[in-house]
Amino acid sequence: MQIKPEDIFLVAMIYVAAVLAACWLAMIIWAYRDMRARSRDRLAQLIVAFMVAVLNLPGLLIYIFLRPRETLSEAYERSLEEEALLQDIEEKPVCPACGQRVKENWQACPSCHTRLKKPCINCGHVLELSWNMCPYCTASQVSYKTDDALTARYAPEQPRSTPTYDATRRTGEALEFVEGDEY
Ligand SMILES: [Zn+2]
Ligand SMILES: [Zn+2]
Repeated sequence: MQIKPEDIFLVAMIYVAAVLAACWLAMIIWAYRDMRARSRDRLAQLIVAFMVAVLNLPGLLIYIFLRPRETLSEAYERSLEEEALLQDIEEKPVCPACGQRVKENWQACPSCHTRLKKPCINCGHVLELSWNMCPYCTASQVSYKTDDALTARYAPEQPRSTPTYDATRRTGEALEFVEGDEY
């Protein structure tokens, strides 16, 4: 039996048709999936799939030109980043007197010398000026006045296990620590 040229032509046609059909289907699936990653709107997803099914390649090109710029996960990531940035700005403490950026554990503003925090009279942790009890060691704090007054009043009351409290030395230590504490 001899193979006729018509047969070869037919097989070639079937092959081309199958390839084209597969491409057509792949375009529809791709467009549908892509739209699903960019929009939660069920109707929009179906319209895109339908448009690509009907218009084929031109439909796909139109979709690529007009599709939403960001995918949902990209938009989500961007919103997270913006939120983090905003929080960063909001949480940066500033000096109430001159508005300069200060650090959480600074006791005074380096630009205008305003007192920002006070050290705990017992453990030396940096506390808010308004706190009258240390949250770290629960020692009650009496209004922070002068170093001399503190030394005079509190040194004798220190328990034997901790070294005698010296406000001037302590302040010096704390300031040194802050200087070396670069973030
Ligand atoms: Zn200041
Ligand atoms: Zn304390």
